Amino acid sequence: MLNKYKIRVLQVFFILTGIIGISVYGFSGLFTSLIVYIVLEVFAGNATLHRYYCHRSFKMAAWKERILCWLSHHIGIGSVLGWGGYHRWHHMHSDTEKDLHSPTVQGIPHVLFGVWDANIPRSMVKDLLSDDKLVWWHRNYYKYHVIVIISLMLISPWTLVFVYAIPNLFSLLSAYAIAILPHRTSDVKNDLLTEVLTLGEGWHKYHHDNPTHYRYNAYDITGLAIHYLLKERE
Ligand SMILES: [Zn+2]
Ligand SMILES: [Zn+2]
Repeated sequence: MLNKYKIRVLQVFFILTGIIGISVYGFSGLFTSLIVYIVLEVFAGNATLHRYYCHRSFKMAAWKERILCWLSHHIGIGSVLGWGGYHRWHHMHSDTEKDLHSPTVQGIPHVLFGVWDANIPRSMVKDLLSDDKLVWWHRNYYKYHVIVIISLMLISPWTLVFVYAIPNLFSLLSAYAIAILPHRTSDVKNDLLTEVLTLGEGWHKYHHDNPTHYRYNAYDITGLAIHYLLKERE
């Protein structure tokens, strides 16, 4: 049971560290946080965790996958295996009683503070379970974050705040934006504000209709990054 709260504890750590860090160091490091967030969100969160692993929407070279697999687990919304299962479940049951984070059915407080939990059938993540490095990262996800936190606290608290905690807080807010804004009516919509905040994930109706497409519209920043920098040419 306690396991279900671990991710929320990590996320509360991002918030508290962000607040304490800004009160100690001021706002000058936020530009660095923004740059780290943009790189993490576009390449690791959106392109790799979501479009590559959850939806298998493109192929990339093994060396790129290894680096981005690590960076995907650097984001504090759960392992690829854990979050991936939940996200596939969301696609199957969006805006219904079975959804994990519908703002209209489960409610916005649940999206923001609740425990997103479902008994995901193993068959839904069979392809992810067959990847040994994803299983390793799933088992060691929290150990990795504890090691990063302790190391940065000892070596450079400024880095802990502006390179680790605040970019992760931005990624969390981005995940909230995707869960809430395009689903805020009982039907999924494309949403321009979400598109800007999440760097390409806002064309959410298009994505629900075409989950295996890696690019959602002509201006989709993540789609462009995949197309020009990540996708293996056939
Ligand atoms: Zn959705
Ligand atoms: Zn999706």
